[in-house]
Amino acid sequence: MSQFQLWPIRPRPQPDELLSSWLRRIALAHTPKVHSFCHAVWPGLQIWNRDIDASAPAVLATVMAERTGIAAADVEVTTLRPFTGVLFEDLRGRTAHTDWILPVGIYHRTRRRPGLQWCPMCLSADEEPYYRRRWRLALASTCPRHGVVLADRCHDCRRPASPHRGQDPLCDVCQADRRECPVEPADSQALQFEHRLAELLSADARAWTQLEALHPLSFFGVVRQVMTVVGAGERSQGLRDEIARHWGGDPAPPSEKQLEFMVTADRHRISALSARLMRGWPWLFVAHCADAGVWKSWAFGERRYGRSPFAYADPVIRFLTAA
Ligand SMILES: [Zn+2]
Ligand SMILES: [Zn+2]
Repeated sequence: MSQFQLWPIRPRPQPDELLSSWLRRIALAHTPKVHSFCHAVWPGLQIWNRDIDASAPAVLATVMAERTGIAAADVEVTTLRPFTGVLFEDLRGRTAHTDWILPVGIYHRTRRRPGLQWCPMCLSADEEPYYRRRWRLALASTCPRHGVVLADRCHDCRRPASPHRGQDPLCDVCQADRRECPVEPADSQALQFEHRLAELLSADARAWTQLEALHPLSFFGVVRQVMTVVGAGERSQGLRDEIARHWGGDPAPPSEKQLEFMVTADRHRISALSARLMRGWPWLFVAHCADAGVWKSWAFGERRYGRSPFAYADPVIRFLTAA
């Protein structure tokens, strides 16, 4: 029986490692150039000018499984696809937007958007620096291990990370070391909130509250809608002021309306305020929305009633319909 030839050097994926990060490490173990390796294995296949973590061509994953001897299912979990049915209903193509996935803005082989965050301290602690799947998610603005806000741009030239280019973890444009990017301590409420969200993504997560016991699509749908109402919309400044006045946090507005397009520092502030607002769901949410005048139509925003999870729509309709 014929066997596929295994690659001579086959590092396993590290915990939560992204496919692109793992492929890069495999390639560099064999040749000094990532692109030459990929070209030799998959001649003509478009790899680095697409977001392979979101939409890896089938042949890429198949060959990686065959040549590393790693089960196809274990290769699959290095991509963002297993979040289908958990964070979103389907993972859209490379240009469309998917809830919770940070777009990297592929332009040829470069990346224009800061969609790959990183923790400088995690990269420093790694024996071989690698990039985590969680760092591609809009529900992550913090590192639970180091208690800091994630980085999303080079501290020197402000470009997004493109680890497949240049000498990672050095910036491919200015050579600044991503491990030396200055870090800010995270807001403690955001830290706890995001730590819990990360736990709920794991297969063996146990629900602590009724809200957490919902189907994950509904649960994360509620979280996303709360973050959207806190971050964007006509009356969101009043709501942010209201939360910050009672519970702390920074009410400054984000520079983008959609969660997935916000820079990490903005998303972090929204996460910190949303964490405060979601405690004891839905009562604090309802009370602060009412005080800030965020009634039904503002609470639904662009996402109309029919598209909101029931667990969100129900308290909004019952308690935020202005008399
Ligand atoms: Zn870290
Ligand atoms: Zn740079």
